[in-house]
Amino acid sequence: MDILTTIGTSIDLAKRLREISKNIEDAEFRNLLADLSNELADLKLEAASLKERIAELQEENGLLKKTSQPSDEKTTRRQWGCYLFEGDSTLYCPACWDSKRQKSSTTRVNTRFRHCPVCNTPIGAG
Ligand SMILES: [Zn+2]
Repeated sequence: MDILTTIGTSIDLAKRLREISKNIEDAEFRNLLADLSNELADLKLEAASLKERIAELQEENGLLKKTSQPSDEKTTRRQWGCYLFEGDSTLYCPACWDSKRQKSSTTRVNTRFRHCPVCNTPIGAG
């Protein structure tokens, strides 16, 4: 079960206990219940930020895995500022390959420039 759902349910339960406790004249009981509600609210915030952090780290980890593994594919040569691979005549964006190990095929703009539709980099003929 999702941790935020569990905490949300706990908060609802504490709320219901607070409703019931209106008929109870025990100050200590009511204080403890208020403390519990505050702790649960803090816990919910903390869990939400941890979930976000985990998602960030997963994304970072995936990217690291992709870029750190020695790829069996090597750029064979450069042509018009683009990368070419063995047995493939497509011109790929060097920025996408270098940063993400992603093969983005470029499109021709004119005789001097090509364009990467993924990272929007104009690639100059050099
Ligand atoms: Zn690109």
